[in-house]
Amino acid sequence: MVHNDKPHFSRGGARAGASAHGARVVFALGLSLMLAFGSLHLYARGAAEEAPEDGRLRVVATHSIIGDFVRNVAGEEVELTMLAGPNQDPHVYEPAPADSRILLEADLVFENGLQLKGWLDPLYAQSGSNATRVVVSDGVRLLDYEGEHGHDDHGHDDHGHSHDHDHDHVHGDYDPHVWQSVANAIVMVENTRDALMDADPANAELYEANAAEYIAELEELDDYIFELAELIPQERRLLVTGHEAFHYFADRYGFRTVGAALGAITTDEAEPSAGEIAALIDEIREVGAPAVFSETIVNPTLARRVAEEAGVQFVSPIYSDALDEPGTEAGTYIDMMRHNIEIMVDALAR
Ligand SMILES: [Zn+2]
Repeated sequence: MVHNDKPHFSRGGARAGASAHGARVVFALGLSLMLAFGSLHLYARGAAEEAPEDGRLRVVATHSIIGDFVRNVAGEEVELTMLAGPNQDPHVYEPAPADSRILLEADLVFENGLQLKGWLDPLYAQSGSNATRVVVSDGVRLLDYEGEHGHDDHGHDDHGHSHDHDHDHVHGDYDPHVWQSVANAIVMVENTRDALMDADPANAELYEANAAEYIAELEELDDYIFELAELIPQERRLLVTGHEAFHYFADRYGFRTVGAALGAITTDEAEPSAGEIAALIDEIREVGAPAVFSETIVNPTLARRVAEEAGVQFVSPIYSDALDEPGTEAGTYIDMMRHNIEIMVDALAR
């Protein structure tokens, strides 16, 4: 499988520039008129820019996977902007100057929550936005950093609505990659649907119908992943990846996460020590993991080295935290999950 070592960094989808109407008209009016009515024109122009052009909700999704959920529920009824777009890593997203304005004008912000929001809180605060923040992972049964259950479920009383920030220390203790279980994706879609219905009652029936149709597709996807996982003998359902993004996947579909080249649940940690890499290689040999998988958002150099030194297959790409560009093999959440299980079967099934 060919892999492009260069990180893909295309901008997600900052909206095309705001309309530049007004200025030329004002000039054409001439100096005297400008002196008389200049301030009035400026006022009128400002008001026009604040108002939504077509009455649609302005919706922001913090990363591409959540953006796909919003698109499936809302269709073209909302104006959707993704911050971290296709092939952009939501762990380390660096907001562009335009993002502040996008948040300021937004009605709703759909975010993952957990610890994938280190950059969102300051951006939101600095933008002056009043947009309702919707934490789509609310209600998901969370796993900790080691992929274990066992924590008490935390409160979800404000399900689907704006959160205060006092919960940060609780949310931060959990693995953020919840969407890697399709069961969780369904909860995320339900939260998305509920927030859209609340914010835009005129289109509530449409959102409900779209969500029902999409959830049916997700249920088929879930079955498909279970069926394909069955093709892999239990003792070979072992995942070694670039970073620890597959605990929810492993938990749902009966895999075991052996380890990750980066040794961390995020992508912004320091590189592991030589000793840590040697320990991972020992572990791969000991448990007989057949492959090392490399995610698109992670530099593959380290994972490739681990695979080579362990004498196992290097498999790339799988998709953990970002979709690929629209129209490609992983341009939607459903295509991403199908691709991942198919490439796992290729590498792990005998
Ligand atoms: Zn990740």
